[in-house]
Amino acid sequence: MEEYIAKVLISREELAKRVAELGAEITRDYAGKNLLVLGILKGAVPFMSDLIREIRLPLAYDFMALSSYGASTQSSGVVRILKDLERSVEDVHILITEDIVDTGLTLNYLIANLKARNPLSVKVATLLDKAGRRKVEVSPDYNCFSIPDEFVVGYGLDFNEEYRNLPYIGVLKPEAYKSI
Ligand code: 5GP
Repeated sequence: MEEYIAKVLISREELAKRVAELGAEITRDYAGKNLLVLGILKGAVPFMSDLIREIRLPLAYDFMALSSYGASTQSSGVVRILKDLERSVEDVHILITEDIVDTGLTLNYLIANLKARNPLSVKVATLLDKAGRRKVEVSPDYNCFSIPDEFVVGYGLDFNEEYRNLPYIGVLKPEAYKSI
């Protein structure tokens, strides 16, 4: 699997350190609040599962699965909900956990969708932010790492469903794209 990794962008140790810092910050900010951590499948799973164990507060978590309608409609920001939340969110503060914010279209749609359900608040914690690629104005409330415009894999991020289980964030060699 690792033969196609050109370089490690963020090591396992750096990920653990930064996720712990973020967890401490979130612990301070949400003390005394009814917190629901929302994981966006599938990419956010490793980040979310590490982050919740660094949040020293009572919390609940749930998942949503989203899919865009494909390359041409993705730019319109139209997103389909494949799996929805299990219950009403009117009494909770929602913290969305995302693997990466790229164009921002997915998040833009999701925030509007969740706000329409009248939760106490909606905020976003992302592992990675590619701010240079934004198409709509959306900025995460918590961000572990800002990265340049490179396609990355690992720690939940895939290429063709592979590499999600790499314990670090890496950049693929050009050969990887030809191998499928
Ligand atoms: P956005 O709507 O912000 O453009 O899309 C975010 C989604 O695009 C992420 O959740 C992720 O699935 C995908 N994505 C964007 N950039 C990358 C990247 O560098 N690597 C991988 N594996 N997925 C990416």
